[in-house]
Amino acid sequence: MNHPAPPAARRPRRPFPADLLLALQAEFGERVSTSDAVRAHHGRDESPFDPQLPDAVVFAQSTEDVRAIVELCARHDVPIIPYGNGSSLEGQLLAVEGGVSIDLSGMNRIVSIAAEDMTATVQAGVSRKTLNEALRDTGLFFPIDPGADASLGGMSATRASGTNAVRYGTMRENVLGLTVVLADGRIVKTGTRARKSSAGYDLTRLFVGSEGTLGVITEVTVRLYPQPEAVSAAVCAFPSMGEAVRTVIETIQLGVPIARVEFVDSLAIRAINRHSNLTLTESPTLFFEFHGTEASVKEQAERVESLAGEHGGSGFAWATRPEERSRLWNARHTAFFAMLQLKPGCRAVTTDVCVPISRLADCVVETEQDLLGSPLPCPIVGHVGDGNFHVAMLIDPEKPEELEEAERLNRRVVARALAMGGTCTGEHGIGLHKMDFLLEEHGLAAVDAMRAVKHAFDPRNLMNPGKIFSYTA
Ligand SMILES: Cc1cc2nc3c(=O)[nH]c(=O)nc-3n(C[C@H](O)[C@H](O)[C@H](O)COP(=O)(O)OP(=O)(O)OC[C@H]3O[C@@H](n4cnc5c(N)ncnc54)[C@H](O)[C@@H]3O)c2cc1C
Repeated sequence: MNHPAPPAARRPRRPFPADLLLALQAEFGERVSTSDAVRAHHGRDESPFDPQLPDAVVFAQSTEDVRAIVELCARHDVPIIPYGNGSSLEGQLLAVEGGVSIDLSGMNRIVSIAAEDMTATVQAGVSRKTLNEALRDTGLFFPIDPGADASLGGMSATRASGTNAVRYGTMRENVLGLTVVLADGRIVKTGTRARKSSAGYDLTRLFVGSEGTLGVITEVTVRLYPQPEAVSAAVCAFPSMGEAVRTVIETIQLGVPIARVEFVDSLAIRAINRHSNLTLTESPTLFFEFHGTEASVKEQAERVESLAGEHGGSGFAWATRPEERSRLWNARHTAFFAMLQLKPGCRAVTTDVCVPISRLADCVVETEQDLLGSPLPCPIVGHVGDGNFHVAMLIDPEKPEELEEAERLNRRVVARALAMGGTCTGEHGIGLHKMDFLLEEHGLAAVDAMRAVKHAFDPRNLMNPGKIFSYTA
């Protein structure tokens, strides 16, 4: 591959002392790996950047393990990169200064489910699907669903969301408390199981979205929701992107409590049809889901069908049986991998802008026009109910000029979103990829305030260095 990380992230590797490796091996035995394959797996994510390998990987099983690893690394001034499920998209896991990757996937215990309070506490390596499996007989569910089966720790660290956010919010709204190992090995517990609190600074929300740069999350307490009495899903094709998006805007503005509304453009539909063996019409399409009582679901769906009709939507097709619905949503959730198959061997540079809902149609339509001139295949999908959409620019990993073209388009998409009062990232985070955009979005004073927070928590810059913004210890 030939896609180095952006210049700001090209940093000298720190020394990795033999004494540290010996100490880790003495404490964790075979749970320490320095094999090339394991390091390569942990030095990359789903971004297009070339891997940068950690010096070692340690597989943690408890908060105490994490504390011990962090203390040893801190003693030797060696960076620490928390690893959840490796599904991030912005270069968050690359070990740009070397160091130790702490793999939390073995921390996969459901600590407790408090059904009456509608909360669950899990170890950080539990994935969203594992949590929902454990909840199956409780009548409750956890709604946040990034396309990948990410870990709850990773999802907290990136402030993730997904298709359900329009109704249930993001990790910001749904994390009630965390256990975190700080850069010096101290353990803090933030939040409580209560649904609200005014007790001091909100550390929970500080760690949510910190991308591993402030501490290692080892336990997460989340909100749960009652499984809806009735669910129905629908697919509707539109003559243009603008009409599809305008249907969504009016649905939101009318206050229809829609649970999911996803936009998929014609090229992405072609990819989904091939990948999931479906026969959807190849035009701009909305996927809907409605949750509630039988009567409210019917009413919501009829209102949306009528709005869609006013915007030229046709073939409003219903899926009420669970297996039909899950076939549809599986197809949407695997859209990223389906799109990669449009260009065998490619990687995707993914945009993640989010704009105020009133500007969404302008942003999507102007972006569509802009992409017409590009030689790259650029399918678009989006959580449009939140004003968030992704262009997946498919590039050949052997052709630096394709990365350059994708970055040129990306800069234009972000500039457009910022000019409309939006953000460069609705849910994927900054990582390495969007560091310049962070500055453009917030300005120097705000980024300096973030650096001051980093300094307070991690003055020696041990926690996932080189991510979000540049910071030198
Ligand atoms: C096909 C596909 C679809 C996706 N769809 C969505 C989507 O709809 N919405 C969305 O929000 N994202 C989406 N993503 C991105 C990704 O799934 C999320 O960013 C997810 O939250 C990452 O979780 P993870 O467990 O894989 O974390 P990782 O990728 O392992 O890590 C992500 C970051 O969090 C840090 N981290 C991980 N675990 C911890 C921890 N315990 N403590 C502290 N820091 C930690 C890491 O150091 C890194 O900086 C998608 C990705 C793919 C590949």
